[in-house]
Amino acid sequence: MKFDIITIFPNLFEGFKKEALIARGIKKKIILINAHNLRDWTHDNHKTVDDKPYGGGVGMVLKTEPIYDAVQSLERKAKSAKHKTKVILFSPRGKKFDQKIAQKYAKLDNLIMICGRYEGVDERVAKYIADDVISVGDYVLSGGEVPAMLVMEAVSRLVPGFIAKKESADKKDHAQYTRPEEIKINGKKRKVPEVLLSGNHEKIKKWRENL
Ligand code: SAH
Repeated sequence: MKFDIITIFPNLFEGFKKEALIARGIKKKIILINAHNLRDWTHDNHKTVDDKPYGGGVGMVLKTEPIYDAVQSLERKAKSAKHKTKVILFSPRGKKFDQKIAQKYAKLDNLIMICGRYEGVDERVAKYIADDVISVGDYVLSGGEVPAMLVMEAVSRLVPGFIAKKESADKKDHAQYTRPEEIKINGKKRKVPEVLLSGNHEKIKKWRENL
């Protein structure tokens, strides 16, 4: 699975790529993460990616042309590699991301993600360039980079080989305890539920299902 990210802050992904399961997935060549600088697709000396909004209003808006050029060039590469590809734009007004969408994306070969910044992105990107407009929740962030990391974390887990124990890849977790059996918190003794110490696997399974 190849993730292409179009962003004005590609360095934000450096740390993300270097640690934990994501780093291992990259090393094992199960996933590939390419963060592209949107400014590379500008054609003026100032490498302009934003402009004032039509109709007035505060702040700046990301322009369509560099994004369009970036998507076209990445799509061309995907096409020549015969990759199943989708282009997504992050927006707080998009469709809410969930496990079902993650499963759908995990079946692709290539996910191209467009990260907004400032006051957002020229609406023509949502209307005519992106296949999906995705929100990661009902709050407003300052950019699409954290949503891109969130989508990559959820989708990578579902790519075959990424998680060693496949059965845990798309399960929600249940309450977990580890040693010690008893610990003092604010002066009170807090114990691990008795059933988990019982060794009775049937009972433990039921307890977990009923949480
Ligand atoms: N007023 C703008 C908000 C811009 S926030 C609007 O309504 O679209 C700047 C960028 O951060 C957005 O373009 C988007 O890419 C990203 N972003 C902010 N909140 C988000 C959310 N909840 N889900 C996905 N992307 C988000």
